[in-house]
Amino acid sequence: MALTIQAAREAVLAEVQPLPTEEVAVPDALGRVLAEDVAAASDVPAFSNSAMDGFAVRAGAAGRTLRVVGESRAGAPATVPVGEGEAIRISTGAAIPDGADGVLQIELVDDGGGEITVNDEVTPGRNLRAAGDDLRAGELVLPAGARLGAAELGLAAAAGRARVTCARVPRVAVLATGDELVAPGEPLGPGQIHETNGLTLAALATGAGAEVTRVAVVRDTEQETRTAIADALERADVVVLSGGVSVGPHDHVKPALDALGVREVFWRVALRPGRPTWFGTRGETLVFGLPGNPVSAMVTFVLFARPAIAAMQGAAHEAPRVTARLAEPIARHADRDECVRVILRDGVATPTGPQGSHQLRSMLRADGLAIVTAGDGEAQAGTQVDVELLA
Ligand code: AMP
Ligand code: MG
Repeated sequence: MALTIQAAREAVLAEVQPLPTEEVAVPDALGRVLAEDVAAASDVPAFSNSAMDGFAVRAGAAGRTLRVVGESRAGAPATVPVGEGEAIRISTGAAIPDGADGVLQIELVDDGGGEITVNDEVTPGRNLRAAGDDLRAGELVLPAGARLGAAELGLAAAAGRARVTCARVPRVAVLATGDELVAPGEPLGPGQIHETNGLTLAALATGAGAEVTRVAVVRDTEQETRTAIADALERADVVVLSGGVSVGPHDHVKPALDALGVREVFWRVALRPGRPTWFGTRGETLVFGLPGNPVSAMVTFVLFARPAIAAMQGAAHEAPRVTARLAEPIARHADRDECVRVILRDGVATPTGPQGSHQLRSMLRADGLAIVTAGDGEAQAGTQVDVELLA
């Protein structure tokens, strides 16, 4: 019995060893995974400040005429306080001067230069941002395991950090096997195809937060397959192979892995596309033997290699999943769960088109993989399914 998707994924995750950590400058940390908690070093903002361009004043009624005694600009606070009958010109983000209760925006003021008339009541706190209203000193801002995107980098800096401790970036080697494979742009001879798995798998690995150290095409000979895998095992944390993992006379991947001491964890998953997926380890190195069909290779990378790459970095590896309703009926496969490439709109999953495992175009515009579980008959339109998100 082939493994279910879930059981295969668990078997992969059980083999994952966390990578060592290293310090990274915040500007270089985009896409990295935090290996420590980041707390705010001080209140953010550190001082109460104005939400508007206008005048900092004492609380009071509309119609008052006030003398302008100074200015508070962003980065240059006023040097005098606001007294009774006085105002201080203030910019957005500038520190509230001592004595002021609020700010009246410039649009509600007659500005005579040295003197102003306020045309609205100023209640205490009007247009003020309190110190610490974004982050409190000591507060946990980013937990270990967070992947650093745009907002996270900004918050790390706001929290006072110049450097953060992150997991080392996993190194991934991609080996595409096949005598029929031809480089992009090369003319095709009889029976040849343009190589695509090296590109798609390397791109998926990069998107998963890995560094792709090698992408190579490997010919279907026992010797070349073994040499290429031996080299990849030396320089990568994860070796991703495509093709050559079946049992035909030109499939050399499994015997080569065996000869190189890579221990098989599983072969075959009750999955379509992607049944002949192989997974094994040598020491801490993970090896994925993915099927050669272009969609199968991508789908199995997403289902099995992506969560492993996340887990190696200590990232939350929960598969990003939503539920949706099928837009149209889909015939169930008798004994394999099917990953249907779908477009998601308003909770409805619509297949991208023909779903053959060789039809790479079915990945275009796909937001996710709708998992149509194995069984008899068809999943009716409207059936609720899990959808594993691609991005
Ligand atoms: P295999 O698993 O090696 O039997 O390959 C299955 C199918 O996938 C065959 O039609 C191959 O030509 C195709 N295929 C294998 N590797 C690649 C690749 N790197 N790029 C595009 N198609 C491939
Ligand atoms: Mg092949």
